[in-house]
Amino acid sequence: MKTLETKSLVLLKHHLKALRLPTVLAECEKVAAQAAADNVDHLAYLLQLLELELLDREKRSAERRLKAARFPTIKTLDTFDFNARPSVNKMLIATLARCEYIDKRENVLMIGNPGTGKSHLATALAAQACQKGYRVRFFRTTELVTTLIEARDERTFLRLKAQLAKLDLLVLDELGYVPASKVGAELLFDVISTAYERTSLIVTSNLPFESWTEVLGSERLTGATLDRLTHRCQIIETKGESYRLHDAKSRTRRAKTTDPGATANPPQPASSEVVDEGQSAS
Ligand code: ADP
Ligand code: MG
Repeated sequence: MKTLETKSLVLLKHHLKALRLPTVLAECEKVAAQAAADNVDHLAYLLQLLELELLDREKRSAERRLKAARFPTIKTLDTFDFNARPSVNKMLIATLARCEYIDKRENVLMIGNPGTGKSHLATALAAQACQKGYRVRFFRTTELVTTLIEARDERTFLRLKAQLAKLDLLVLDELGYVPASKVGAELLFDVISTAYERTSLIVTSNLPFESWTEVLGSERLTGATLDRLTHRCQIIETKGESYRLHDAKSRTRRAKTTDPGATANPPQPASSEVVDEGQSAS
């Protein structure tokens, strides 16, 4: 009897492996013991196991999609302080987190000064899309353009374009930090027009629309790019000064009020954030 049971168990485990049901494999004995103790019938036992498998499978594929999206850092909406950025409509962000814009192939544009939370929001929304089962890829725009230029004459170019075509959501972060070359601007335009009405885009930029010609070079290309991007899109403006600068300033203020004599080591913003303030003022 015992050897028969052992033999069935070995066979069962083999079949579960072959069928790729790792959670059922890991949990079946434990859940069986519990089911016996609770007097649960066979169908309920099977249901419990399959529910566990399904939950784990969803978790594993969300993790895979998050990894494939290649976010430079993971950010969430929970950690975004909406009070510090009143120009950002919290309700709109909550609606976007439901990802219906992706089903409708709509775009999201985030415009604002450096340090105002554009990449944070873009990453958090895109991570939400990964959780919901959409295929996502995050690029800093200059990196994508450089990769496309380098791959232009090779087979990798077509492979990259094919990968982009399979996405549900493409994030182009920091469009406008560096002016693109003529070829770069054309390649970027090609990505944006290929995505048009097929793949949703989240684009972040520190430049207002009227300055996009500086990045894309020609009026014609800028007009055509904006035409595609802004046809059916939500525009989010992150107005105000850099969050880190604001954070550093309020820490300095707090230090001064709690200890009026404390001037020895006030928190200093990083040099790039000092530049931020200059840019916000301009
Ligand atoms: P941007 O892309 O607009 O230059 P980031 O999104 O990179 O700005 O924000 C800079 C840093 O400040 C990041 O670490 C980000 O998480 C944080 N940050 C910005 N805005 C907020 C906010 N409203 N609440 C919490 N953290 C924020
Ligand atoms: Mg950014």
